[in-house]
Amino acid sequence: MPGIILANSAAGVGMRAAVKALQSGRHALDVVETGIRPVELDPTVRSVGVGGWPNLLGQVELDGSIMDGRTLRTGAVGALQGYLHPISVARQVMERLPHVFLVGEGAARFAAEIGAEAGPTLTAEAQQEWKAWLAKHVPDEARAHWPHEGLIEWARLTADPETAGGTTTWLVKDAAGELAAGVSTCGWAFKYPGRLGDSPVIGAGSYADVRYGAAACTGMGELTIRAGTARAVVLYMKMGMSVEEACREAVGDLRALTRLWRGGVTLHAIDAQGRPHVVSIGRGHTVKYWIWTAGMVAPEERAAAIELW
Ligand code: ASP
Repeated sequence: MPGIILANSAAGVGMRAAVKALQSGRHALDVVETGIRPVELDPTVRSVGVGGWPNLLGQVELDGSIMDGRTLRTGAVGALQGYLHPISVARQVMERLPHVFLVGEGAARFAAEIGAEAGPTLTAEAQQEWKAWLAKHVPDEARAHWPHEGLIEWARLTADPETAGGTTTWLVKDAAGELAAGVSTCGWAFKYPGRLGDSPVIGAGSYADVRYGAAACTGMGELTIRAGTARAVVLYMKMGMSVEEACREAVGDLRALTRLWRGGVTLHAIDAQGRPHVVSIGRGHTVKYWIWTAGMVAPEERAAAIELW
């Protein structure tokens, strides 16, 4: 079994370490975590970890999840503040707790208890952009009292597809045939505090089942939560569809939703044999992804198939 890594465009900085881990025989879960950690630390990746977009209050709230396709065990954290590696905290939720999902203060408490790396995640640049966004959208009078004003009307303005999202998604089949999925994100820029997207919601933002395949999504999490997209892709493969057909069916599910906000979704999937497919719907630009399989000298960046709403 040669193994495969399929990751989204934000994943570049973690690809080499992940390939090395895969080649040295590490488990798919380790490869996922190894690949995501450098992305979480890279301040130039604006949608993940350090340097991620803050919420409307200027706080960076991070989401992450991981899933083992053999046991269907999973761990997730949402709205985690003050820790650098949500993917590792999510993994420890899976390994050490009888639960699968922790959020907010409970997630931070658990991170502290396990000695997870704490640190600042709001960069000066991200803070500057948050201030600039407020200056552009919120009248001086309301900004003077910030954050005492109600936030609902401002949250509605944040659905800009340029800044609304971004995530790093990873699907890994290792040399022993084990399958894992992992996701890490800061979510939608300037989101309402406490907002969770699809990334930490297992079955929406990611899913892995070694018998059928795995899937992970980037883009408008509000849509993929409603359609249960990642689990749907895997179930469509269970029903006998190819990975391409399964993604097409899931795109159809998304098309059937009413969409109040602009923005697209990209589906990344592999079947049980490790055959990949990536398709992007409703994005106004080419979406790239990263792939590595045995025989490649280096990871390659390729363009996703395109679908229109
Ligand atoms: N899916 C992520 C979320 O909704 C954002 C993204 O990938 O663009 O939080």
